[in-house]
Amino acid sequence: MLTFVTVDRDMPEKRPPNLRRDDFHEIYAEFAREKAAEQAGRCSQCGVPYCQTHCPLHNNIPDWLRLTAEGRLQEAYEISQETNTFPEICGRICPQDRLCEGNCVIEQSGHGTVTIGAVEKYITDTAWENGWVKPMTPAAERPESVGIVGAGPAGLAAADRLRRAGVQVTVYDRYDRGGGLMTYGIPGFKLEKDVVMKRIAQLEEGGVKFVFECNIGTDTGFADLQDEHDAVLIATGVYKSRDLQGPGSGSGGIVRAIDYLTASNRVSNFGDTVPEFDSGELNADGKKVVVIGGGDTAMDCVRTAVRQGAQSVKCLYRRDRSNMPGSQREVANAEEEGVDFVWLSGPKGFTAGGGHEASVRGVAVEGTEEGRVAGVMVQRMRLGQPDATGRQSPQLIEGSDYVEDADLVIKALGFEPEELPTLWGVEGLDVTRWGTIKAEFGTGRTSLPGVYAAGDIVRGASLVVWAIRDGREAADAILADVSERAVAAE
Ligand SMILES: Cc1cc2nc3c(=O)[nH]c(=O)nc-3n(C[C@H](O)[C@H](O)[C@H](O)COP(=O)(O)OP(=O)(O)OC[C@H]3O[C@@H](n4cnc5c(N)ncnc54)[C@H](O)[C@@H]3O)c2cc1C
Ligand code: SF4
Repeated sequence: MLTFVTVDRDMPEKRPPNLRRDDFHEIYAEFAREKAAEQAGRCSQCGVPYCQTHCPLHNNIPDWLRLTAEGRLQEAYEISQETNTFPEICGRICPQDRLCEGNCVIEQSGHGTVTIGAVEKYITDTAWENGWVKPMTPAAERPESVGIVGAGPAGLAAADRLRRAGVQVTVYDRYDRGGGLMTYGIPGFKLEKDVVMKRIAQLEEGGVKFVFECNIGTDTGFADLQDEHDAVLIATGVYKSRDLQGPGSGSGGIVRAIDYLTASNRVSNFGDTVPEFDSGELNADGKKVVVIGGGDTAMDCVRTAVRQGAQSVKCLYRRDRSNMPGSQREVANAEEEGVDFVWLSGPKGFTAGGGHEASVRGVAVEGTEEGRVAGVMVQRMRLGQPDATGRQSPQLIEGSDYVEDADLVIKALGFEPEELPTLWGVEGLDVTRWGTIKAEFGTGRTSLPGVYAAGDIVRGASLVVWAIRDGREAADAILADVSERAVAAE
């Protein structure tokens, strides 16, 4: 250990941009065994491991790094999976620069962080290859049943923990496959889908029942779930896309990021037929694409458009690079792949094909199909004083407008929760002023007895690793509560 003084930080090999631009496979290769041991050996085994503190799951990172450095991979896996339900997924898609790696002590001392995420992925991928990932076999079956709404990371992490304890678990999801945004939001070049499907299969084999294509609120009422199960966990995520206003914003060819990414994930990863993709509505092939937004969703859209064969891909963001919410690693990847970032710019409206009512104030564009977008009217910005969050707020530069050509515009401005109590007709389920469900910190208990909530529907749009933590904590609270009720009933 402690070789960080002599051994430089190294990531697994990254495929060159000209090769990775044409497919949806992950861009990083796996570490070779020796390389993983070498990189894990850079850990300084410090007394207060800040990496662990800043990992939402408080993974025992120094322990599994030491075991990896010593070649004791199965033991490393055992420790790693104790605190994380899906370590191979977090290793791939956590924004490590903001979490564990960003707080690594040797990073702070200027030596370059230990590549924690890549080692975590390597350990669990190796465990799968070697058959160390064991089927779920509860020691004894329990009579209690729990219904989980949503098969994203929060719901799946809870299902895993409850089922291992012998509880009867049913997961309901409106989609045809499990995984939530891990399956239909995050593109394959960050997270290949067989990694997620393997986990769903493990849960199914372990006795978790999945009911897909079942929209709670329309196909089945929430009250029915309450009647059928001893406890219900709401883990539905947040899907209401923030929208754009302004002249021309209703034109054809202006689409929501979630629709665009879902179509791409279906076609490129599962070979599904998606009519809106085939018609070109949700396909960037040959198009001039403008993505609006500066978060990770925007980064996923621009990189997807590159792979679909877009003629050009631009990302419009109203702040500058250092003030953007997306991971810097993903921005760098996008730039390598040919994406053009237009910083300090926001949309004022859209030009569109002639005659369409949306083409206002003389910006109808000749030669463009009627009612379809032809360009984005861009307003240039400058950054003012920092606001309460510490980020500098953008201010318009008057008279600086220009038009950026576009025949596909993707809105990636973030997500908000749907109004669940209204949608589902549930009385007494408290929500915050942002519409997220009010749930007790650390247990997910809501204002309704026997109803729990976890993941993005509680936090607002967040991260997979936080959803896993919430799901695990809610499962523990459910177990404690149903056990207490069982004892009281004796
Ligand atoms: C494009 C994109 C890229 C992202 N990239 C990353 C990343 O790189 N790293 C990272 O950590 N995080 C990333 N995130 C965030 C991350 O995906 C989410 O924070 C996480 O998936 C939230 O988990 P969840 O279980 O709460 O919800 P979700 O993953 O959204 O799952 C919710 C599930 O509930 C189902 N559902 C909803 N309503 C109903 C209903 N009424 N009835 C039945 N089922 C219902 C949905 O179909 C869905 O399957 C990204 C998000 C997006 C959109
Ligand atoms: S779960 Fe995420 S934050 Fe925690 S150690 Fe793994 S990669 Fe880092």
